[in-house]
Amino acid sequence: MTTAVADFGLIGLAVMGQNLILNINDHGFKVCAYNRTVAKVDNFLANEAKGTEIVGAHSIEEFVAKLKRPRKIMLLVKAGSAVDAFIETLLPHLEEGDIVIDGGNSHYPDTQRRYEYLTSKKILFVGCGVSGGEEGARYGPSLMPGGNPEAWPHLKPIFQAIAAKAPDGAPCCDWVGEGGAGHFVKMVHNGIEYGDMQLITEVYQLLRDGLGLSDDEQGDIFEKWNKGVLDSFLIEITTDILRFKDTDGQPLVEKIRDAAGQKGTGKWTAISALDYGMPVTLIGEAVFARCLSAIKDERVRASKILAGPAHGAFTGDKAQLIKDLEQAMYASKIIASAQYKWNLNYGSIALMWRGGCIIRSAFLGDIKHAFDTNANLENLLFDPFFQEATAAAQSGWRNTIASAVVMGIPVPALGTALSFYDGYRTARLPANLLQAQRDYFGAHTYELDGQPGKWIHTNWTWPR
Ligand code: NAP
Repeated sequence: MTTAVADFGLIGLAVMGQNLILNINDHGFKVCAYNRTVAKVDNFLANEAKGTEIVGAHSIEEFVAKLKRPRKIMLLVKAGSAVDAFIETLLPHLEEGDIVIDGGNSHYPDTQRRYEYLTSKKILFVGCGVSGGEEGARYGPSLMPGGNPEAWPHLKPIFQAIAAKAPDGAPCCDWVGEGGAGHFVKMVHNGIEYGDMQLITEVYQLLRDGLGLSDDEQGDIFEKWNKGVLDSFLIEITTDILRFKDTDGQPLVEKIRDAAGQKGTGKWTAISALDYGMPVTLIGEAVFARCLSAIKDERVRASKILAGPAHGAFTGDKAQLIKDLEQAMYASKIIASAQYKWNLNYGSIALMWRGGCIIRSAFLGDIKHAFDTNANLENLLFDPFFQEATAAAQSGWRNTIASAVVMGIPVPALGTALSFYDGYRTARLPANLLQAQRDYFGAHTYELDGQPGKWIHTNWTWPR
């Protein structure tokens, strides 16, 4: 008879699963590994896991039998039907109170559905966002678990041990909420990642095509920025990328086809924002910018026939524009965060993202501070620190957009951030005219200023 020896079971021996197992093992928990293609179990045990406490299983029955109760089983398999397939395979072998965790990039409505299904079977289901890529999985990811709260006391010692630690030692992992909350938070995280990446690429294009700087010169600028308000993982890796040389000594990044891929999490964030009626314009623009980049051949044809300023046409003060770019990026990052109002425990979530994940940045500590000072903060822009930061960044931000427009360099994310800011601080927007138009053609009615709730229709065409 197989003895229950393992503290934790993990299914899925691709890059994420293997690294997370090794990380859990490093922290003194015994892990049992399983994979659909069973040969990968033996391969893993004989190579990466050699000399560790990790055990493997060759069937789902053996896997389940090797786990101590309540069983804690994490799936790190391809998001989608593979998760449902494994849940069905596991179910006949599980007992009341066992815990199933989906650590993949599942869409949160799927997690909510699986949570309800498994709750009906008395199994505790957790959807856990995992960020940090393979290195994070190996040495400390940011973990965002949500689902059935009864599971959390069993998972907390393991998850908080293996998670990244923020500079003050706090684990980058806490319970985020019930149902699909964990994957919802991971989705928002990925949306912010899309926004941050797009902002950086726009600044890169301004430096390269507007100012004509070499990749090495840009690398020096990014390195300097990483020591200031923009201190973050993405600025750090951009510095490395800009300096990385191909075998012929040329910057590798300049040889890469400029057509962006995407797996859907940014799109899901933008769709959710539309569903909830939230003006999360920066992430929307970041997703559309990837779509525009993907029609490469069409753009190349258009570049030959459509008029516009020649790149490299900047004639102003280059050093000043470089300073302005830092301010523009910082202010836009503030807007990207201010555009969220997800009714989540935003302060703690920002804290969880201070280490281990792709969007980690010093800036998240300031967000946490803002929500600590005022838990009911209506919007980040009402916090005195961020109010002053955006005010101080203003002229650089506006100069950047103006220069980009004059040079004909697209800045969809930087530009929409400024438009949001200007819209948000405008007491009277032109929506009065829009309401009149709606009433004119569709009798949709309007309210008069100072009389909310009193809906009026006017016959705009009679008498003429
Ligand atoms: P992956 O390439 O997304 O998935 C490969 C794993 O899924 C293998 O174990 C594979 O088993 C299994 N699998 C695929 N289709 C299956 C099916 N129909 N039924 C059963 N098993 C199936 O692996 P990954 O890159 O390590 O990512 C794992 C999860 O973490 C994904 O949801 C991913 O989105 C998420 N994630 C990835 C990263 C990253 O940086 N890669 C970061 C965060 C989150 P076989 O070996 O038998 O094919």
